[in-house]
Amino acid sequence: MLTVGRDPRLCNLAGPAGNDMPRITVSKKLRFEVFKRDSFTCQYCGQKAPEVILQCDHIDPVAEGGTNDILNLITSCFDCNSGKGARSLSDQAVLNKQMDQLAELQARREQIEMLIEWRTALEKIKEDTTEKVAEHWSAAVEGRASLTKTGKDKVRKLVKEYGLDLVLRAIPEAIETYGRRSGDEHLLTMESIDHAFSKLGGVCRVLRDSEEKPWLRRAFYVRGILRARLSYVDERLVMHLLEECAKRDVDFDSLDRLAKSTSSWSAYRDVLEQFIESHPVEE
Ligand SMILES: [Zn+2]
Repeated sequence: MLTVGRDPRLCNLAGPAGNDMPRITVSKKLRFEVFKRDSFTCQYCGQKAPEVILQCDHIDPVAEGGTNDILNLITSCFDCNSGKGARSLSDQAVLNKQMDQLAELQARREQIEMLIEWRTALEKIKEDTTEKVAEHWSAAVEGRASLTKTGKDKVRKLVKEYGLDLVLRAIPEAIETYGRRSGDEHLLTMESIDHAFSKLGGVCRVLRDSEEKPWLRRAFYVRGILRARLSYVDERLVMHLLEECAKRDVDFDSLDRLAKSTSSWSAYRDVLEQFIESHPVEE
């Protein structure tokens, strides 16, 4: 496209300024959208603002009919966009996009503002999420308690580690498991609410694990029965044996029933071991 603008018939396309290139400017708002989508990172070389100056590059060059559609725009650092970076460009048109020093300073300033606005928005989303989870918690404990700042900090960490959806599912689970009620009005006790909150991280972990290992929930249930009924249970071994049983498609309902009637840990263990032995896993 070296000849664009030099051909008098095409001159009108360049507009009254008589530039070599027909240019369409990308508005600040649109540039911001493109930068946000690309996480303020040059999509060619991976360098980020504010270390490098970012520009909005047209994937299909304007000279070849490329538009300002966001799908045709990509974040590029100055070097990559002007052909000095990792990307090799043959199109002289792109080389012409070099900015003078003043424009560069302006761009840098504008970009830092955008970057700050972006980071603030991300922080705000995190804040809002934490507040929503805190509201969810208060509702789940029937308005009996609300989270302190320390509580919200913990929620923020849990959301980061397990994701919002899982934390929201863990909340009723924790209250169901650890909540205790007392008095005529059958209210959740403050003590048990605190206890349930202290267990929330553990509940999140169990939920995640049980999604990865569907048998785990059943195994915890069996272990819980044994623990409540018997004076001794080898808790590590029982989980290991139950995992082996699960691999052999054991009927967990019968393991539940047996756990409720067994007279000792060793008797229960023997049944599991026999089941495992008599059901070899096909490799
Ligand atoms: Zn780059």
